[in-house]
Parts: sequence; structure tokens; C-alpha cells
Amino acid sequence: MPFAQHYQNTLDELSRVCASCGRNPRDVKVIAVSKTVGIEAVRAAVAAGAHDFGENRPDLLAEKAAALPGETWHFIGNIQSRKIPEIVANATLVHSLYKESHLAKFDAAAQAVGKVQDVLLEVNVSGEESKSGLAPADVADVLAHAVEFSHIRVRGLMTMAPQGDLAVARECFNGLAALRDQLRTQLSAEQAAAFNELSMGMSEDWREAVCAGATMVRIGRALFSDTFEAPDA
Ligand SMILES: *Cc1c(COP(=O)(O)O)cnc(C)c1O
Repeated sequence: MPFAQHYQNTLDELSRVCASCGRNPRDVKVIAVSKTVGIEAVRAAVAAGAHDFGENRPDLLAEKAAALPGETWHFIGNIQSRKIPEIVANATLVHSLYKESHLAKFDAAAQAVGKVQDVLLEVNVSGEESKSGLAPADVADVLAHAVEFSHIRVRGLMTMAPQGDLAVARECFNGLAALRDQLRTQLSAEQAAAFNELSMGMSEDWREAVCAGATMVRIGRALFSDTFEAPDA
């Protein structure tokens, strides 16, 4: 099945899921995670109507963004400090910032190219050791530090749920939404207005994420692979 069909099926299902839990599909952005496919596959996805893409390697992000500069590029991968300028040069939104020591580096890299870098703080809601991200209890301090930088704008939070149990995933997503609501109270009105994104949900669990309030879902295999099968709810 070509990407176009997977994409249309996903958008149709997004409408149904939103209807089931009182959300507006316009409030949920589908990010096509293109990290496993080449530029030709991304071109086909653009032709099918997708315009937001997620990449997890700075070099491949740079390559694809250079080939398709009109699309919106999201960085969702592990961040190494020396790669920060390359990420800033190419990413509209960085989803995976969680090291406090990276804040000043993002600010400097963004200032150098004359932009304000939109970022999300990654949170390890579930506490799984294999997952990266801030402990929920540490996010308030990092956020307070982040908003001091004039070339960073913190737009919200990102998480990855443990795979394999949708009830656990749902709990994780509800936890991230509650954390965002709580953190907004520590921000100025202007900062709080910008701090509204929840990037959560992947191929297996995006439906649960949408009903928990996701504003962005990051979908890879369900869009780009013909062998992916969704788990039973
Ligand atoms: C790969 C990846 C995704 C997409 O995962 P799928 O299960 O293929 O949908 C989403 N978010 C992050 C951070 C990823 O690395």
C-alpha cells in the first residue's frame, strides 16, 4: 500500500478518534516520522499531502531538509552538544531537549543564525530506565531556566510511552497533560500562551495520546511500513 493510502487512512481514523473523545482533528498535527526512509519516499509523502516530518539524526535531517526546504522538519532524536548548530539550522521544532546544559548551547546556536528556536522539553513520565527525558519533578526548574533565554521558546512537552500496554500508555499521556497544565501556572501570561504543545503518541499508541490531549503525534511505521499492525485496544 502506498504512503498516500496509509496517510489517508490515518487521517480518517484521526477524525473518528477525535469524534470519540470530543477533540477537533484540526488541533492534532500528524508528524510523519521519516527517519527510516529516503528522500524519494519523503517526496512521495509530500505529494500525498504530508508536510511535517520527524527525523532523529542531525545529518539526515540536514540532508532531507536541504532537498525539501519547503516542508516543516521536526528533530525527535538524541541530542549531542556538538550537533546542536546543525539541528538548529534545520529544525522548526526540537522535541527532545532535556539536558539543562544544552539550553545555553541552543540559545547561542539560534542567536548565531538569527532565529528563535522552538523546543519541547522531553519528559520521562513512566520512569522507565531505557527512556531519556527529565523526571517529572525536575521539569519545573529546567523550564524556569529555559525561559530566561531569548533565543529559545519553550512550546510544550514531549514524551514516549512504554510500548506494549495501552493502559500504561494512556496513564503516561494523561500524566504529561497534567504536568503541562501545572507548569503553565509558573509562567507569565505570554509564556503560558506559547506553552501549549503535547507531542505524544506513536504508531501503536497515538489514539490513546489524542484522547489524552496530544497536539502532535509522531507516526513512523504505521505510515511508511506495509507490515506494521496496530495492537488491539
Ligand atoms: C521512531 C520514533 C517515532 C515513530 O515511531 P513509530 O513506532 O515508528 O511510529 C516517534 N517518536 C520518536 C522519538 C521516535 O524515535
